[in-house]
Amino acid sequence: MLYRTVPKTGDKLSILGFGCMRLPSTRAGGVDEERAIRQIRHAIDNGVNYLDTAPVYHFGKSEQVLGRALADGYREKVRIATKLPHWEVFEREDMDRILNGQLAILKTDHIDYYLLHSLAGKSFTIMRDLGVLEFLDSAKKDGRIVNAGFSFHGRLEEFREIVDAYDWQFCQIQYNYLDEKNQAGTEGLKYAASKGLAVMIMEPLRGGNLAGRMPETIRKMWDEAPVKRSPAEWGLRWVWDHPEVTVVLSGMNDEVHIDENLRAAGSALPGSLTEDERALIGRVRDEYHRLMKVGCTGCGYCMPCPAGVDIPGCFANYNAHALFPHDRAGKFQYIGRHGGLMGEKSYAGLCRQCGKCAKACPQHLPIPSLMKEVSKEMEGMMGIAVPVMKGGLWCINKARRIGRFFTREKSHA
Ligand code: SF4
Ligand code: SF4
Repeated sequence: MLYRTVPKTGDKLSILGFGCMRLPSTRAGGVDEERAIRQIRHAIDNGVNYLDTAPVYHFGKSEQVLGRALADGYREKVRIATKLPHWEVFEREDMDRILNGQLAILKTDHIDYYLLHSLAGKSFTIMRDLGVLEFLDSAKKDGRIVNAGFSFHGRLEEFREIVDAYDWQFCQIQYNYLDEKNQAGTEGLKYAASKGLAVMIMEPLRGGNLAGRMPETIRKMWDEAPVKRSPAEWGLRWVWDHPEVTVVLSGMNDEVHIDENLRAAGSALPGSLTEDERALIGRVRDEYHRLMKVGCTGCGYCMPCPAGVDIPGCFANYNAHALFPHDRAGKFQYIGRHGGLMGEKSYAGLCRQCGKCAKACPQHLPIPSLMKEVSKEMEGMMGIAVPVMKGGLWCINKARRIGRFFTREKSHA
């Protein structure tokens, strides 16, 4: 296992991090806890020392399973990363309540890497007005968290603003060879690194889509490569090739894939790809882009939209859905991200056809008509899915609160 250093602290982290958002599941759809714990411990035994979870993963089960996996001396070997869900924060005291609950669930007295989860649009400003920076200061001071960071899904200029707004130790961005110009992208990666932040990478394989079933033309390109690597290894090595990257998170749930990733993490030094290998990955990227529906580069010049539409975000989800139509999670991701579940509503159907955005687009995209197309394709289920997903989150929160109440009662008994 190779390790990279957190610039501000000198902490040494494994370049492969275990993402606990896609743990192995049982036939009934729950988490296969025994297998997940075996996998997590196997990864730790082979050098992984960074484990990333969040309250929302597996509807709360991910943190619970990780807490159990880290019994028997494993906690001392690793850094835990978990997140504050801004959509569950309505006042300052919610922040302490949520963090204290996470410490109990994870069976630890400190979180090594604590993130504000999934910032984009106005979510950071809202959290800052609620006192989140003072909360992070005080949680660091009393030792409940060690390093403060944030995960991000918004636009580049929002990213820069957040990076500059606090003395973060790290951040977490979506990055892979298809997302160089999407969200924070390469510019954001370099900006964060230039400010001394460690950069953790999520979605290095776009939720596994760059590794699973793929268009035939792309399969042939990989097959013709002189060095035989799986598409997953090519994707991970492309990210590790960047010296600004600290940890690459992989949502692992298959023993064969875990061992394959562990092997690759033993030799993926920054700058270790050859020029020919980078060119091959570039050709694969070009082919993916050729197959995409909308040629949006994610530059953000069309923003802000007066109706609140996240134009590049909607196109990114639409393209991903067109490339990987077999991945049913794509529409739910669109709904979760833009339907108002995790912040402001920003879906294509809000478009008022004013045309302001199209005048600013350097790609000359007919954005208003494309918005109609995106809305038609992606929002059919929205009227049902948003209330159902919101109801699900409400029930989980309620169940957690009731659980906490009884635990408290018991401990008083
Ligand atoms: S045309 Fe639609 S998407 Fe574009 S700026 Fe106007 S409301 Fe927003
Ligand atoms: S200006 Fe055009 S290319 Fe840039 S983000 Fe907007 S739609 Fe995409």
